[in-house]
Amino acid sequence: MQCLTTRMDGTPPTLTERADPTPAADSDAVVVRTLRVGIDGTDHAVVAGAHGDPPAGRDQLILGHEAVGVTETPHPQLPAGSVVTPLVRRPRDAAGPDRLDMASPAAVHECGIDGADGFACERFVADVRYLVAIPAELAPAGILIEPLSVAHKAIDLAMAARQTVPWEPAHAVVIGNGSLGLLCTLALQLDPRVGRVSCMGRRDRPDPTIAVIERLGAHYLDTRRTPVPALADAPQRPALIIEATGHAPHAFETITALAHGGVGALLGVPGDDMRSLDAGRLHRDMVVGNKALIGSVNSGRPAYLQAVETLAAAPSWFADAMIDRVLPHSEAPAAFSDDDTTIKTAIEFAAYEER
Ligand code: NAP
Ligand code: BGC
Ligand code: ZN
Repeated sequence: MQCLTTRMDGTPPTLTERADPTPAADSDAVVVRTLRVGIDGTDHAVVAGAHGDPPAGRDQLILGHEAVGVTETPHPQLPAGSVVTPLVRRPRDAAGPDRLDMASPAAVHECGIDGADGFACERFVADVRYLVAIPAELAPAGILIEPLSVAHKAIDLAMAARQTVPWEPAHAVVIGNGSLGLLCTLALQLDPRVGRVSCMGRRDRPDPTIAVIERLGAHYLDTRRTPVPALADAPQRPALIIEATGHAPHAFETITALAHGGVGALLGVPGDDMRSLDAGRLHRDMVVGNKALIGSVNSGRPAYLQAVETLAAAPSWFADAMIDRVLPHSEAPAAFSDDDTTIKTAIEFAAYEER
């Protein structure tokens, strides 16, 4: 079978022939026929060698952590033919932590990213405990569930940080109009606790991401005209900010921009970035402003289930507008040569056929 592999050194990924996977006997693993794999900013960082590692003792990694497929082998908890999307993390040791999404990176592998092969193959094997069954009608859009679950976990952590006080953010701002930023915008826009939603980018109209933001009923803010710190002077200062660019200054600008009592959730994964900042002002602003800054990575089954609900409730045009380039798997390496006209590239390994 064909798999999309990377040497994680900046060279383009290639299609590689691998043996069909077989589940270990007496295990809870099943074979999944891959339908689609999605590509995000993290995959680009993995290919560039800026994030993650290949499996131990190897110099290549099979890519793909946003996936949807159909189970081929039956299991008492999961009939053959189930449409599934896999969780990304696996414990490094048998006695791994319970909450993999909250664990130290040293305790886990991330499929397709760090220390374990991903799902960009015609078939993959996974233990049923790492598979989430989804409604068959969501199969074409199923690659959005993993990144949407990342958005939901961040919103949950932000809400939990304010659970001891009445708090319903009247204005929430997402920094970043990449695929993760747009999925955060969808989740906030459909959240009845949240008022106005804005999403920030640095693009001119016409642009497909701005079109998605505005069709959702959210507001586009251009960081070239309204830099993040300028939100502090906005008529409605944001109570909740989700950073989804990976641009390190945005983390600290978030503190300045937040309304008193506000929460900032950081999702981007930047490289090293040496610069000076006024630590005293930021520290003081956090304290006298009762502000919170949280980091959030990965997600677990509860967030996946929330993502399934959100995707099912999304407007009917949303998934097609997001997944705006679908490549057959024979052309998978081209997935890494996208530009500003593409929001989300999907690699299609097989079409979904109802049994
Ligand atoms: P992406 O598609 O590359 O999107 C990044 C977006 O940020 C782009 O739209 C980019 O705008 C915008 N951006 C970058 N620098 C900016 C700046 N200085 N001002 C304004 N906008 C800026 O990546 P993604 O897949 O959406 O992911 C976003 C970040 O989250 C990445 O760092 C990724 O590694 C991380 N991530 C984290 C998790 C997690 O679990 N925490 C999950 C998924 C992704 P242009 O396109 O116009 O340049
Ligand atoms: C993935 C997460 C992963 C994170 C850090 C993201 O793109 O969606 O599952 O934990 O990267 O590697
Ligand atoms: Zn991702």
